Amino acid sequence: MVTEAGSVDRAERVDLLVRGALLVATVDDERREIEDGWVAIAGGLVHSVGGSSDPMPTAGRALDADGCLVTPGLINTHHHIFQNLTRSFRPAVNGTLFQWLTTLYPRWAALDEEAAYVSAWIGLAELALGGCTTSTDHLYVHPRGGGDLISAEIRAAREVGVRFHPTRGSMSLSKKDGGLPPDSVVQADDEILADSERLVALHHDRGWGAMVRIALAPCSPFSVTPELMRATAVLAERLDVRLHTHLAEDPDEDRFAAEVFGRRTIEQYEEVGWGSDRSWVAHCIYPNDEEIAKLGRWGTGVAHCPSSNMLIGGGGIAPVSAFRTAGVPVGLGCDGSASTDSASLWMEARNALLLGRLRKGPTSMGARDALEIATRGSASCLGRDGELGQLAPGAVGDLVCWPLEGVQFAGALTDPVEAWLRCGPVSARHTVVHGELVVEDGRIVARGEEEMLRRHRAISARIQGV
Ligand SMILES: [Zn+2]
Repeated sequence: MVTEAGSVDRAERVDLLVRGALLVATVDDERREIEDGWVAIAGGLVHSVGGSSDPMPTAGRALDADGCLVTPGLINTHHHIFQNLTRSFRPAVNGTLFQWLTTLYPRWAALDEEAAYVSAWIGLAELALGGCTTSTDHLYVHPRGGGDLISAEIRAAREVGVRFHPTRGSMSLSKKDGGLPPDSVVQADDEILADSERLVALHHDRGWGAMVRIALAPCSPFSVTPELMRATAVLAERLDVRLHTHLAEDPDEDRFAAEVFGRRTIEQYEEVGWGSDRSWVAHCIYPNDEEIAKLGRWGTGVAHCPSSNMLIGGGGIAPVSAFRTAGVPVGLGCDGSASTDSASLWMEARNALLLGRLRKGPTSMGARDALEIATRGSASCLGRDGELGQLAPGAVGDLVCWPLEGVQFAGALTDPVEAWLRCGPVSARHTVVHGELVVEDGRIVARGEEEMLRRHRAISARIQGV
């Protein structure tokens, strides 16, 4: 609940004071956890953080966080939001990843600006309800005549109020050239590079606390040419923007790389000039030990998508502990409908916890590790260390109030951070981005949710042909 004034012990006035939290898990450099804590935000950035014995600044607005764990906003490092238009599509649900893709590529050829805008509005609202304050998106289908899909998504992000890192995805290797997608959804290399440069010039904000940044993102080794991978890395260097792609997601990918390139898929990734701390990759389920060490040396980040690992199936689980030991920045991602069909970062954090323990035993992963991955690790993937993913003075004013109340949390008295992921399910009571409420009392603040759902249903029906 928002009231008109906070406490008045300090002369300096801040914009928002979140107070009375059961616990504030700052995830700052000291990993401070503050009981009965508060967080003050001014000018979109964290002004100060304290506990009951610390004087609170005067605030324009105060937000009660009683009964809540307060964490930094969670950061989503991999998604394909447009795929919420074809969720749990019956003809595709029981295939392999490659079968799923080849069933849906022709459907996605109907994407246009309205579809990109509405799917992004709904998808980002869904993420905000699940505690996400910054999301990337990997939109790699740009049908001819479809319009400026990325700018349409950015418009939706501004309306919903979340921080947004869309990536200019691309596919250039069609079936006739030995790739996976049909001709209708691929573009020429020159066209992709020119549009990438246009979008960076139009939207990329390099400032501290930026709400929109663009990255460049050829889709995968089996849907773009090696020439486009190389040229994209060169362009990203020149424009000083980040690089993103899928890597080592599926055993089929290594078979494809062996046949087409005569090497492993991560060797091919290195060959085309992507082994760098400018890059972060989605999944990376199948690296060998030598490749894990290389990723650590390069500083290439990994977007871990735990639900995706499980839904794609086959037993492949990203080696998260080994990555972190090797110094690979590991962030969290929900991924698109191919592998999740739901976009709650709380659920992804919980699944990261469960899957980590399934893979490497109970001491390998706790709730604090999952929180770390979802905040600081993800910030590192996006090249925003120290700016995103922690509640420390000067970092962005992005946070979530998680109500640890009701029957789901009865009896959880001693460790609110472990309870947060072991109990539940839980959604955000409040989600704050840049000091502004995006979710308040469990509801999206931006107007028009019902109308957006109506439009989303109509577009989904058109694309699915139902
Ligand atoms: Zn993906």
